[in-house]
Amino acid sequence: MAVLIDTHAHLDDEQFACDLPAVLDRAGAAGVAAVITIATSAPSSTASIALAERHSMLFATVGIHPNNIPEASPTAWDEVLALVEHQRVVGIGETGLDRHWDTTPFPLQEEYFVRHLELARQHQLPMVIHCREAEADMLRVLRTEFDRHGPIRGVMHSFVGDAAMAEACRAMGLYLSFAGMLTYKNAAALRETAAQQPLDRVLVETDSPYLSPAPLRGKRNEPAHVIHTAACLADLLGIPLEHLAEQTTTNALSVFGLPFSIFS
Ligand SMILES: [Zn+2]
Repeated sequence: MAVLIDTHAHLDDEQFACDLPAVLDRAGAAGVAAVITIATSAPSSTASIALAERHSMLFATVGIHPNNIPEASPTAWDEVLALVEHQRVVGIGETGLDRHWDTTPFPLQEEYFVRHLELARQHQLPMVIHCREAEADMLRVLRTEFDRHGPIRGVMHSFVGDAAMAEACRAMGLYLSFAGMLTYKNAAALRETAAQQPLDRVLVETDSPYLSPAPLRGKRNEPAHVIHTAACLADLLGIPLEHLAEQTTTNALSVFGLPFSIFS
């Protein structure tokens, strides 16, 4: 069976409050060996770590999502800092830039994004990066970081950019993670970009509970569904699903530094 890693899910979401053990059982049965549960705020960072302590297939990130900055308490950033050394933490984020929702003033988003970059660098952890309708600003900030400090370890999550964006991100060291959107009827341009990506830089994710892949669109998404995105990506790259699974799992182990114990 193809062994997959869902590199981006929000399992602390209230939509999983009642049935997470069953969700994780289904993931395991679908070949998912590990899931990275992604924090979106200080309380969500605490909750994500708690889940990763309780379930051996889960690993956590800590960080504050750009759209959640306005509701962050004055101590939120210090809370994130206090959690970063926890042994189940494998990344910094979800952080980034978002011009689609105007909930957070853009300069404030950028300030937080730079803080996350510094934190990731100091602790040698990968970045989990959200970019929505802010490609030019994203490249500007990333390039400043890259020019000063060299390659950036991390993931452009739910990648929807074009081929030039993909190449620029890869050139700075980043991986590209594809989510359910790749399978959508109207995503032909994204599929064309994905088909051009080198196998050693791609990852798969669900972004659960959001963005269920076709044919499950509209339902709550969950890690087991990552198989649909993986199958779509394998098809685009012209390789068997088993090969795609093996390579994306190797990539995920590498960028997040996951232990091989996930296979036992
Ligand atoms: Zn997310």
